[in-house]
Amino acid sequence: MGKNTAVTLDHFMDGLRKRNPGQTEFHQAVYEVSKPIFDFIVDKPLYHEYQIMRRIAEPDRVVSFRVCWEDDEGNIRVNRGWRIQNNNAIGPYKGGIRFHPSVNESILKFLAFEQTFKNSLTGLPMGGGKGGANFNPKGKSDHEVMRFCQSFMTELYRHIGDDIDVPAGDIGVGAREIGYMFGQWKRITRQHTGVLTGKGLEYGGSLIRTEATGYGATYFMQNMLAHRKDAIDGKICVVSGSGNVAQYAVEKITQLGGKVVTMSDSDGYIHDPEGFTQEKLDWVKALKNEKRGRIEEYAKKFKKAKYHAGKRPWGVPCQLAFPCATQNEILLEDAKTLLKNGCIGVSEGANMPTVIEGIDAFLDARILFGPAKAANAGGVGVSGLEMSQNSAKISWKEEELQRLLTDIMKDIHASCVEYGQTKDKKFVDYVRGANIAGFVKVADAMLAYGVV
Ligand code: NDP
Repeated sequence: MGKNTAVTLDHFMDGLRKRNPGQTEFHQAVYEVSKPIFDFIVDKPLYHEYQIMRRIAEPDRVVSFRVCWEDDEGNIRVNRGWRIQNNNAIGPYKGGIRFHPSVNESILKFLAFEQTFKNSLTGLPMGGGKGGANFNPKGKSDHEVMRFCQSFMTELYRHIGDDIDVPAGDIGVGAREIGYMFGQWKRITRQHTGVLTGKGLEYGGSLIRTEATGYGATYFMQNMLAHRKDAIDGKICVVSGSGNVAQYAVEKITQLGGKVVTMSDSDGYIHDPEGFTQEKLDWVKALKNEKRGRIEEYAKKFKKAKYHAGKRPWGVPCQLAFPCATQNEILLEDAKTLLKNGCIGVSEGANMPTVIEGIDAFLDARILFGPAKAANAGGVGVSGLEMSQNSAKISWKEEELQRLLTDIMKDIHASCVEYGQTKDKKFVDYVRGANIAGFVKVADAMLAYGVV
């Protein structure tokens, strides 16, 4: 074995930026993870010798392909699709598919890299991957979405498999899209296996997968608060987004006695000072999931609410914040505003919603900050349970799955405390805890394989 001496974090990041020019989201994600890990491995030469971080930050493979489809007017449209298989040291690649016009290789590489650590944290045997296309499902007819999904799967099918790579949903990919993609997979391969998760209950899906990410992010907040002998009950909460994760975060927060006063979409946010009830939330679910409407309409239906066009909700005073829309939605200024208004906890339902400077501001203020890879891991956790049910050809009952989800979130919290608690036990740095706990399992598996 040669002598790869310990490189500094700066040196490592310089090399990464040179090898991946212009991929700013990927640089950001790798830096956020590597900062605590370089500190952790400073006296662990084996990880340096075997170049573990260098290898995790180089995806096993990046597949990019053309997706050609025909719109309702008979025009030929061309999009680009990707699958990033980041690391399968501890299990088959696993991670969602995103359809959004902003999708590019940098965003998917950041997501696949993050997913590797997140999946490890769940304690289940899943590696990290992510995929998607720069396709905008907004405004498209059902038939157009179907044709797109079929064309996307016609290429993707050769790269995935229930023991190889198991995609799921993400932004722009919900039950409808998973159904179309699974239908095409089944048609091409003649197999009915658990190759995708987030499937409908009629064809192999798991109960509570739809709820799992939003519920999980709320449970993570509940666990962080409980560690400080506090609770969600009675707290004012600000939520961003109005898609899958946001809807079920709002539902669980409300059930636990929190008062949610905002939801948003990419056009703006609504502020309802009276707070959400289950009835109001059911109205939002119908608006977003069935009518595919805009959150602005909420303020027309519920007169006490106000719509704020082109803005994010972080200026609304709250004790708890749940960013559940997209990456980089809490900028440094937003973090400062939240702190100034008395926010004591943030649980990231979305992936990388807070910029690095914002995270530093939260950590400096010593508030409870649950980073995405820990806080939103409930979704992939239940996806892992869907894989187990598919392999065993059984379906677990809802009660059992609810218990398993709360256990997964409790265990992730405990791992973060184990690696993130300061020596005086006065503070838990959940960013450090989540990154190190996720890293150790993947790194040790890689050491076991030697150089591959
Ligand atoms: P959805 O597509 O269901 O909802 C996304 C929501 O975020 C919508 O309200 C959307 O508004 C809003 N949004 C999207 N892009 C932007 C933007 N650029 N600026 C402002 N708002 C935006 O996606 P999910 O709820 O599934 O995903 C939300 C986040 O959670 C993502 O970061 C995803 O990676 C993460 N996540 C999701 C998991 C899951 O199980 N679904 C699992 C783990 C993480 P609009 O309608 O205007 O587009």
